[in-house]
Order: sequence, then structure tokens, then C-alpha cells
Amino acid sequence: MARTRLCVTVSAPTTAELRRRRDACPDADLVELRLDAVRDLDVAAALQGRPGPVVVTCRPRWEGGAFAGSEEERRRILAEALALGAEFVDVEWKAGFDDLVAQEGGRRIVISHHDFTGVPDDLSPRLRAMRATGAAVTKLAVQAHRLADCLPLLDAGAAAGADGRLVLLAMGPAGFATRALAARFGSCWTYAGSEAGLGQIPAARLVSEFRFRESTPATAVYGLVGAPLAHSVSPAMHNAAFRAAGLDAVYVPLEAADADDFLQVADRLGVRGVSVTIPYKEALYARAGRTDPVARRVGAVNTLRREPDGWHATNTDVEGFLAPLAGRMALAGARVAVLGAGGAARAVAIAAAGAGAQVTVHARTAGRAEAVARLAGGTAGPCAPPPGSWDLLVNATPVGQFPHPDASPMRADSLTGRLVYDLVYNPATTRLLREAAAAGCRTLGGLEMLVAQARAQFAWWTGASPDARVMTMAAVTRLAEEAAVAEPA
Ligand code: NAP
Repeated sequence: MARTRLCVTVSAPTTAELRRRRDACPDADLVELRLDAVRDLDVAAALQGRPGPVVVTCRPRWEGGAFAGSEEERRRILAEALALGAEFVDVEWKAGFDDLVAQEGGRRIVISHHDFTGVPDDLSPRLRAMRATGAAVTKLAVQAHRLADCLPLLDAGAAAGADGRLVLLAMGPAGFATRALAARFGSCWTYAGSEAGLGQIPAARLVSEFRFRESTPATAVYGLVGAPLAHSVSPAMHNAAFRAAGLDAVYVPLEAADADDFLQVADRLGVRGVSVTIPYKEALYARAGRTDPVARRVGAVNTLRREPDGWHATNTDVEGFLAPLAGRMALAGARVAVLGAGGAARAVAIAAAGAGAQVTVHARTAGRAEAVARLAGGTAGPCAPPPGSWDLLVNATPVGQFPHPDASPMRADSLTGRLVYDLVYNPATTRLLREAAAAGCRTLGGLEMLVAQARAQFAWWTGASPDARVMTMAAVTRLAEEAAVAEPA
């Protein structure tokens, strides 16, 4: 089977800019030239001197595009692109430009259809009708509201037998797998670009972070289940580790609507293991076939692994929290103040108590603080720990995290202990850590824990020990890219 290609979508307000963007796509096998937003459109100039094959698209507003002219004008633009030798021209199935398709005998035609509302009930007959036009490639894009909306596309791809004539896409975050795992869905190419709302990501990320060039339908699939997932650095860390270990595996975000949504899709995609994040840590604990003692103590999981008898679950946050403390602070007998009473606080409290610390939990919701304290044989304290009451302070709340880096969960004048450990890793140095250092405390940010819990997941899935430097570098690079997007120069 031919390898799945990467089609990079470019659009621009002028022909000159469109050409410049067209020629700046180093990762593209194909460039989709979106002519619909070009104000001074010159089709010949848009095509002239192209460095590689193109798909010419002039999307009308009625199909989600920007072209505001008449259908006759649009038809003339597409016909001109064909006459000028464009490798592919995209013709909307509903446009009624049957003469264009027939004139070419379907060759060089991409017949396309976008459903921005969901997955049509008559998906199979629609696809059959589109393919019956004889078009070289049939592109069907549907809106995914849940992961399971990808499954009809998986079935359609399987039914077509990966004949190299289909592009099947689910738009939106829940459809990400149809892009990153395009070969598995039977697509002959997938689209990359800057249309984040459609679920597109830049080609460079698909290639470098999501191993697009290396993936085949046989590649082992791992992932991250939760919602929302757009800013997670876990894919960067795990994919870098898979690459460094020479494993034929890929890790993708699986943004699920609920735990059942994930389980249904994971079965069909043959997912081997996942990291679990908010809000499914408890729901998937309840659904796992087998949980280890750590997961049972925490009452939540952050890792699942598929075994012949079903899903096994563990929680690597406990080990991940302890690993960075080795050599920094002995917990036996230490007074540990935990801020927060969520999933991370539970793992921290149990880890600290297990290492012999006296744990006090401080949270804005007293009942939740008491529940976490009970788990660890500790006590619930006031919302803010008083000065002099702790040796180690652990922030297990999101306070101070991007996009609110100016917040701190503690008053600067109450930072009196030995070590302040902030689980927040974005930014790397939070306001809490800056103020703790200024007050003479030692400090520890959340990145080391992030890498340690991910290393433990990777080892539990694969039996291989990943290089901490590889994962750290991948996380730091990804966080820097996110920061650059948030604050353009
Ligand atoms: P979670 O389950 O949502 O719990 C968050 C806790 O913080 C809850 O107790 C919540 O209080 C409290 N909280 C939220 N906003 C607050 C505010 N403005 N003031 C005071 N308390 C507040 O989240 P989680 O999974 O435990 O994660 C907590 C933080 O740890 C996140 O920033 C996460 O990224 C980080 N984390 C880092 C790592 C790592 O590897 N470095 C691992 C896990 C988590 P209520 O219960 O009253 O809502």
C-alpha cells in the first residue's frame, strides 16, 4: 500500500502571499491551495513555479469556505486550474459541477463533502454516491462531537479496502485520531495546517511530534484520554520516548465525551495503553478490570494498559511525586502541608504518608480536605497553612498555572518551611516558587514529577526504561512552543 501523504492547507488574502506560503511547506507531499480568500486571484500565478503537487480548492461559503462570488465564477476558476494542469482540483459533491468531473473522467478530481453538524446517518450511501462519480479521490469530512464519531469513518475505510482513493476526516478535537492515524482510517492523505478549530495541527507537529511518517496501520497505538487535551505535553514526551527507543508506536490525544466513549473507541482502534487525565481518573478507575494497590489507595488512575483479560490500571502520580524528592528531602518524620484536595493531592498525601511523613491537607472545601486527610492518616488544616507549621509545602492546586501565572496559593510572608514543591509545571517557575526562594526556602517545580510519572507509565506499558532527558527535552520544547503561540513576538 502507498504511504499516506500529508496535504498542507494554505490560504492567503493575496496571490503573492499564497505563493509565498505555498513554497514554505517543507513537510508537505501536497499543498492545498485555498483560493477562496484571495482578493486579487490570479489562478495561473498561484500555480506557476509550484515546487510540488497541489490540490486547488475554492471553497464556497455554503460549504464552510470564504468564496463570496457566484457559482459560475467559481466553476470558471476550477476549470482554469484544471486547464493549467493542477494535479488535483477539489469539487464539492453538492456543487453540481458534474461537467467538470465528467470532462476529466474523474481524473485529478477530489470530490468533497463536509458535514459541520455531525456524522450523517446515511454516511455509507453518501460515500457510495460520491465514489460513483469516478473522482480520483473522495474526501468526506464530518464533525466529531465524541470519539465514537470516528468509528463510522473507520468502518468506511475498512469497507473500501484502503484503495488509495479516500480521505476520511473527523473535524474537531475528538476527531484528532483520523488525522494522526490517517493510514489506519484508510485515507490516502490527511490535511495539516493552522485551522485549529477544525482540529488541524501544523504539519511539522504531525511529523515530528506524532510520528506521521513512521506510522502504518500496524503501528501500536497509545494515547491520552481526558478533556480538554489541546495543551497537553504528554504526546510530545511519549512520542519522543517511543522514537528514541526505536519502538513502532504512536501516542495520540483521545478527547472523549465520557469513559464509555473512550472504551468503545479504544477497543476498535486496538489501543494498547493510555494516560488518563481530568476528568476521567475516577470514572476509569471504576471501569478498569483490574487495579493495582496504589490505584486502589488513591481511588483514581492515571494509567491503563490493555491485557488479554481487559484493562489493568495503576497510578504513577505517587511514584512520580516521590522520585524528584530523592536526594532532596527525607520524608520520614517531616511535616508535609498539601494544598488542594483533588486527584493530585490524593496521590501526594498517600505518597508522603507512605514515606513516613505527617500530612496536613489544606483546601478551600473543608469536606474534601478531610476526605483526603483520612486517606493518608493525616489531618485537615485551615485553608492556608500557618507559618511554622510545615517542612514541605506541596501545591496540588492549579493556582499559578498558565494562563494565570500571577496568582499564588500562599501569602509570601507565610513561606517559612524548608522546601516548596509546586506541581504546576507551566510556567516552570511559578510565582509561589519565586516567592519561596526569596523567603529562603528550597524549591522544586512540577516538571520533574511530570517526567517521572510519564517514565513510569512508559515502563509499565513497554517494559523499557525511557531516557528522562529525552522526555524532559520534549516537554520543555513543547511548553516553549505553546508559550510562543500564546504570546506572539
Ligand atoms: P483537580 O482534581 O481538579 O483538583 C484541584 C484542586 O485544587 C481541588 O481541590 C480544587 O478545589 C483546588 N483548587 C482549584 N482552584 C483553586 C483555587 N483558585 N483556590 C484554591 N483551591 C483551588 O486537579 P488535579 O489533577 O489534582 O491537579 C492539580 C494541579 O496539579 C494541576 O495544576 C495539575 O496540572 C497539577 N498536576 C501536576 C502533575 C505533575 O506531574 N507535575 C501531576 C498531576 C497534577 P475544589 O475541590 O474546592 O474545587
